[in-house]
Amino acid sequence: MDERDIKKLVEAALSAREKAYVPYSHFQVGAALLAKNGNVYKGCNVENASYGAAICAERTAFVKAVSEGEREFAAIAVAGGRENESIQGYAYPCGICRQFMLEFCDRDFTIIVARSTEDYKCHSLEEIIPMGFSADNL
Ligand SMILES: [Zn+2]
Repeated sequence: MDERDIKKLVEAALSAREKAYVPYSHFQVGAALLAKNGNVYKGCNVENASYGAAICAERTAFVKAVSEGEREFAAIAVAGGRENESIQGYAYPCGICRQFMLEFCDRDFTIIVARSTEDYKCHSLEEIIPMGFSADNL
């Protein structure tokens, strides 16, 4: 991925973050998932009074994409931080989201964690969930 494409994906994640529904944690996360065909699916975290029913921004994006028929993905950008504050740190995907990515993505799938379009880090799926359990193990 070139720098211009990364910045576009980060911008989409930052805009998705504005839609986060976070009345409990007040921690807003946005994600933008790039399919191999160029389509982008945005997601935000959506919380619930029954806390366990919450869903992360990354899985929101994946569920939107997969339910539209997408199956092949190139990258995801993730940006998160406290509500009404500028982003302080990198919001890495949680364990459940890493497992979810393993279901649909190759080991070289790119995860971009961003504080802004100028400040981000890129990782492969293999890096963030090494020795993961996937369909290959069945
Ligand atoms: Zn998650």
